Amino acid sequence: MTITSINPATNEKLQQFEPQTKDAVIEAIGTAHEAYKDWRKTTFSHRKNCLLKFAKLLRADADEFARTITLDMGKRISESQYEIEYCANIAEFYANGAEQFLADQKVEVEDANAYIHYEPLGVLMGVMPWNFPFYQVVRFAAPNIMAGNTVMVKHASNVPQCAKAIEELFTECGLPKGVYTNLFIPSEFVEAIVSDQRVQGVSLTGSEPAGAAVAALAGKNLKRSVLELGGNDPFIVLEDADLDHTIEQAVKGRTVNAGQSCVASKRFIVVEAVAESFIAGFKQQMSELKMGDPMDEGTTLAPLSSEEAAVDLLEKVQSSINAGAVVLLGGDRPDREGAYFNPTILSGVTPDNPIFDQELFGPVATIYIVKDEAAAIKLANQSSYGLGGSVFTADTERGRRVAEKVETGMMFVNRPTKSQAELPFGGIKKSGYGRELSHLGILEFVNKKLIHLG
Ligand code: NAP
Repeated sequence: MTITSINPATNEKLQQFEPQTKDAVIEAIGTAHEAYKDWRKTTFSHRKNCLLKFAKLLRADADEFARTITLDMGKRISESQYEIEYCANIAEFYANGAEQFLADQKVEVEDANAYIHYEPLGVLMGVMPWNFPFYQVVRFAAPNIMAGNTVMVKHASNVPQCAKAIEELFTECGLPKGVYTNLFIPSEFVEAIVSDQRVQGVSLTGSEPAGAAVAALAGKNLKRSVLELGGNDPFIVLEDADLDHTIEQAVKGRTVNAGQSCVASKRFIVVEAVAESFIAGFKQQMSELKMGDPMDEGTTLAPLSSEEAAVDLLEKVQSSINAGAVVLLGGDRPDREGAYFNPTILSGVTPDNPIFDQELFGPVATIYIVKDEAAAIKLANQSSYGLGGSVFTADTERGRRVAEKVETGMMFVNRPTKSQAELPFGGIKKSGYGRELSHLGILEFVNKKLIHLG
């Protein structure tokens, strides 16, 4: 096994990295464990200075880091630049907020003075995906480093240049060796790490099968785990929605990161009164996307992350067409080099269609026409996923009512799901469990210790 960076826009091999041996990994756990013993004793203000420097370093070389993202996994350069700035925001959010988020919390009881005291747990393992290669790592590492834990990260094997750059940044910002460790390893090594008694927990962002495998390991070893898995976000359009705004948001929601986002809008559930107009506008704007080199600022549709990803998506789309789905737009790949996929809209996807309950990772929208609001909510909930979702309506109160009835971890009125440092992020059902970001994200891997002064 080698760990290789391949530019998905050209399929050109860029760099290769040697994986670490199991012995090297066991040694790295030892280093992270030793580092924890000192790191947990450092002050919030010391940790804060390190993370503020991390944010500063990110911004200072933002263009270079953005290029690294785009070369590794093909994202449009402006999206990569946004990702770097967002990572700097997350680092600052936890640098500035951790002390307050982890301050002792009084518990009201009559017979004693009792409070919750937060303490770090130790070495944590992170298993991360390629689709937001800086963001996923930073949203796991920043809160946990601020809490006094030390972290080891196995990044996705197709983004090694990003993995290396992130480790260098964490070193340069002043973290002692072992506080942040990048591991170039195959996924089979994760078992040995999670089973090691010095490791206290694991956080995985990725697909459902990977999540199930890591959750099983965590369960077997009685370790804490957080799972941020796939999604099949509903995008509900009610008859009173502002259609111009809704259509514009639908295109953005479906094609963010070339459609490869866990919280991209995926299932467009439209009430019949506005279905014809919505579909016409959506189809028009999806067909106007400009496919091209992701380094080119004028490109609005980038390639997928790899040739395999494009082949896999095509298989899924073809299986749905074979089972009766109707192609309203696209449905295939363009005749050009690189992992590109044509903007696609499918309708007629019935519950027995193989893609009905699958996550489609690419610019492929499925449209469902329903009678009314109640039918829209029912269909939105007919999914084994429950990550994010959105509802479009001119009536905010109505939007709130619908949002409360949809079974997901996050609901947005009049915009697709978004991620922001202050907002809790996570799902229910097969989209995983636990929360990242916000004050909740820093509470996942800490000991919420009760101190009772009788
Ligand atoms: P993936 O194939 O599951 O890979 C994610 C990570 O898990 C990679 O580092 C991968 O390593 C590792 N992995 C795979 N199988 C494993 C196993 N059996 N044991 C241990 N580690 C294993 O997912 P992906 O294709 O990179 O990412 C796309 C998926 O992530 C989508 O489903 C997306 O919705 C989800 N996602 C969720 C969120 C969220 O916050 N909820 C955010 C982003 C993405 P290798 O690369 O070496 O295989």
